[in-house]
Amino acid sequence: MTNKVYKGDLPDNLILGPVIAIDCETMGLNPNRDRLCVVQLSAGDGDAHLVQISQGQDRAPNLCKILENQKILKIFHFGRFDIAAMYKTFGVLTKNVYCTKIASRLIRTYTDRHGLKNLLQEILAIDISKQQQSSDWGSKTLSKAQIEYAASDVLYLHQLRDILTQKLTRENRMVMAQSCFDFLPIRAKLDIEGWPETDIFAHS
Ligand code: MN
Repeated sequence: MTNKVYKGDLPDNLILGPVIAIDCETMGLNPNRDRLCVVQLSAGDGDAHLVQISQGQDRAPNLCKILENQKILKIFHFGRFDIAAMYKTFGVLTKNVYCTKIASRLIRTYTDRHGLKNLLQEILAIDISKQQQSSDWGSKTLSKAQIEYAASDVLYLHQLRDILTQKLTRENRMVMAQSCFDFLPIRAKLDIEGWPETDIFAHS
């Protein structure tokens, strides 16, 4: 298990896939105001790859190739935010996604606790710390605690997806879940393009 940190983009020779867990760290929670700082990826093998994005950076060709690759599934937890943040930064809309938060909302209807920490606790009996969640991700050098925290957000998403998918299938909700995942990139785009809080399906 290693955590690797790269500046600006993934290395040219790195091959990840066919299923990749992704998460982003930003300066804050408003993707139109708060810039993207770190993108973390894992192929589910215990290794995390962290890409630091610098102020004003608007290109990361190797990363964007993965985002746009229809054949690579990207697993997020609350992908709406991360997809919006990367669309805002690179102008690239992520294709082929799975969101463990949406999956949880559709299957764990016995609770309103759908945070990653709660999910990992209940489903995988794994405890992750959320202590570094609000820290300065724009810093040039990330602390060891920040690197470990960022990695922990992607290391377990494969296992989580497997179990959530089993449950969704068992309860005949996987088709509905997949339709939600298919719409998710557009929902994220609406956030950036001017419909952040509007429910476009609402009557008024
Ligand atoms: Mn995170």
